[in-house]
Amino acid sequence: MSGIYAHIPFCKQKCTYCDFTSFPNKLNFAEAYMACLYREVKERGRMLAKKKFDTVYIGGGTPSIIDPKYILGLMNAIRGAFRLSPDAEVTIEMNPGTVTAEKLAIYKKAGINRFSVGLQTAVDGQLRELGRIHSAEDFVTCARLLKGENFSADVMLGLKGQTKEDVKKTIDLAAKCGANHISMYALTPEVGTPIYTDYLNGELPDEDEVADLYDFGRGELLKRGYMRYEVSNFTKPGYGSRHNLNYWRRGEYIGLGVSASSFIDGSRFTNTFDLDEYMKCILSGYFPVVETEQVSGEDAKFEFIMLALRTAFGVSAKEYRRQFGTDWKEDFAEAYERTKEYLEEQGDITRIKDEYLFVQNHILTEYMN
Ligand code: SF4
Repeated sequence: MSGIYAHIPFCKQKCTYCDFTSFPNKLNFAEAYMACLYREVKERGRMLAKKKFDTVYIGGGTPSIIDPKYILGLMNAIRGAFRLSPDAEVTIEMNPGTVTAEKLAIYKKAGINRFSVGLQTAVDGQLRELGRIHSAEDFVTCARLLKGENFSADVMLGLKGQTKEDVKKTIDLAAKCGANHISMYALTPEVGTPIYTDYLNGELPDEDEVADLYDFGRGELLKRGYMRYEVSNFTKPGYGSRHNLNYWRRGEYIGLGVSASSFIDGSRFTNTFDLDEYMKCILSGYFPVVETEQVSGEDAKFEFIMLALRTAFGVSAKEYRRQFGTDWKEDFAEAYERTKEYLEEQGDITRIKDEYLFVQNHILTEYMN
């Protein structure tokens, strides 16, 4: 399986925790940027003509902030350039404060069949603290427009003053509004973001408190019929994100647009993070790649283990042997011995026990060493 990722880097304003490649107040560049993106799509499609793709993910930034005609144009360009399977999963990220019935009608015309909505929290005061441009009520309106569609909601943990009651309220809202998939992430205070100061001042919940909120949230999600298939991702049966599963299974993907990353033929490469440089490269006929790394040998094996252990599906010894020709428990004998108590086995599958999945980083460090 292979995926296509397209990055739309525009936002209305910068959220206080954001370190993604997103540019507030640059919407006037949308026309020029999208023209470059279409060109990159065409060139990459030519290069990868032999490969078949099964998913498209339009992320950002805030893809739903630009005129929807560009999204329609992007999907037309992708279908024209790549071999995209007819039943491809096509997702767009949306900010609840930017969605209208007209936009959705155009997205559907473009073949988009999955919508990822950034709710984050149902508490308006917390949304304001985060610098989000929407309210809980906007999410309700957006969900009403999405009635009957396949949609996912993002929920964030570790916010200033966040209580279990707040988490419950947020999950309740997402579930009642019909989200069949919920991504529940812990806020990471990145250096250089405004929220990092709050972190330094001790105003954010600490690691143990976040783990507590996560355990609570997980319980609430399970109660409502969502099953966990990856550390941060919960789904009603049959609605897991195929695009993300491809990442975790170490499948190939091509990333298009500023800052987008790719994994093709064993090579990981990333486009420039600079908007001007991206456009200049494309207009000069170059791919705007700034970093390339061929992943092989021990690194490839570690990637396989690290990605598989994030998921509830775990490591398949059979699949590992098929890809690398060796036994993973022998390759990682010491790390396996040291982490055995956190793992459970079922046939040829090894996975992290449910209660330790949220702290998997500590376990994965053993494999990295
Ligand atoms: S909407 Fe997303 S990409 Fe845009 S500033 Fe906020 S967190 Fe960053």
